[in-house]
Amino acid sequence: MNGTVKDYIRSIKDFPHEGIMFRDVTTLFADARGFRMAIDQLLNPYAGLRIDRVAGLEARGFILGGAVAHQLSTGFVPIRKKGKLPGAVISEAYQLEYGEAVMEVHDDAFRKGERVLIVDDLLATGGTAEAGIKLCHRLGAEVIGCAFVIDLPELGGRKRLEAMGMAVHALCE
Ligand code: AMP
Repeated sequence: MNGTVKDYIRSIKDFPHEGIMFRDVTTLFADARGFRMAIDQLLNPYAGLRIDRVAGLEARGFILGGAVAHQLSTGFVPIRKKGKLPGAVISEAYQLEYGEAVMEVHDDAFRKGERVLIVDDLLATGGTAEAGIKLCHRLGAEVIGCAFVIDLPELGGRKRLEAMGMAVHALCE
């Protein structure tokens, strides 16, 4: 295939439940050209900027963030769902449509003043990314940007993160 990043993303109706159009990036990750194009484009706006560490949001942010960190020769920090990290953690709860979710990071994951790039596959309401940003800030890190493959603008995530002063980068809508 010779298309854009968007052309490699598959949409699956009614997953994980009715009414959700799931944007499946496994087809993007599985394609050598598509995956490289996505990693290169995620990095485009940050050329020449100092980035000390990449943080990935569970779970597809680990795949993207790991490749981005390798490309930048930085370390990688996983921001995980509650109860998955083995060491001492700090937590941030956020609202879901029904109920609440919690993201966690190891409490020694960042040094003060470190410049962090947050990576995930998709920005919807922005709740997950906001929790990730808050975790970085609580450990004294500076979030220099949030990079996503897909932005769903109608769900307001970009506006929410921009209202926090965040620079949002997305490859497609
Ligand atoms: P949110 O916190 O609402 O911005 O949701 C973002 C997180 O949920 C990301 O980690 C996405 O992987 C996942 N997500 C939300 N909506 C979708 C969707 N329609 N297709 C695929 N993943 C989604």
